[in-house]
Amino acid sequence: MRQWLFVCAVALLAVGCAKAPLTGRTQFIMVSPQQEMQLGLSASQKILSNAKLSTDRRLNERVRRIGQRIANVTGQRNYRWEFHVIDKDVMNAFCLPGGKVFFYTGILKIMENDDQIAAVMGHEIAHAIARHGAERMSMQQASNFGAQVLAMALKIPPKYQGLYAQAYGLTSQVGLMLPFSRQHEHEADQIGVYLMYKAGYNVHEAVTFWKRMKQASKGKTPPEFLSTHPSNDSRIHAIEAFIKVLEAQPKQ
Ligand SMILES: [Zn+2]
Repeated sequence: MRQWLFVCAVALLAVGCAKAPLTGRTQFIMVSPQQEMQLGLSASQKILSNAKLSTDRRLNERVRRIGQRIANVTGQRNYRWEFHVIDKDVMNAFCLPGGKVFFYTGILKIMENDDQIAAVMGHEIAHAIARHGAERMSMQQASNFGAQVLAMALKIPPKYQGLYAQAYGLTSQVGLMLPFSRQHEHEADQIGVYLMYKAGYNVHEAVTFWKRMKQASKGKTPPEFLSTHPSNDSRIHAIEAFIKVLEAQPKQ
């Protein structure tokens, strides 16, 4: 048992070390970039066959142009970028691993200019190039694995192991996944603003956009975007602080 645990721990460490771009944060990732791209591709195909895509040619063109400009400064040569607009009144956008970007018409509606579109584009692309999805999946796998190992070590009878894993899953979700997720948001904000800056967009519009999102969330039900993308004053302050640091750097 002990030997087996050791072998597993070494195996986890061997595949698990990666570094996030820009921030240099050490990441634990057990999913290979190829697996991740494959998952992104099949998810994208599923979305494309089910969603109602916008037929507004000018809007599609605009999103594609801004997306390509941001994508060009990521240095990601293996990505096959695509930019789609889904015709639905939802305030959300996302980028799948491998570079498939989706914007909903609902979020484009509250954007006042290209720079604000670039702000969300940068943020979503940042999640993908920093491999946040793969990191989250790996953490989930590791916590499931941890639950199984613990259940065995504690000699929990098989018929109770399901219940145990469930309880463990819940606690590890609250203890691990939530702060982890906020950390991803913060990192995506920083990388996103940096991409905007590198692509020549007005980074101050990122602040304006998040303020608009905050305003838009003042209704009864918060927009869907906010359930996964907490918009709050601390985020806005963090972005403002990061812009100051960025603008203090000598121009390259
Ligand atoms: Zn986000």
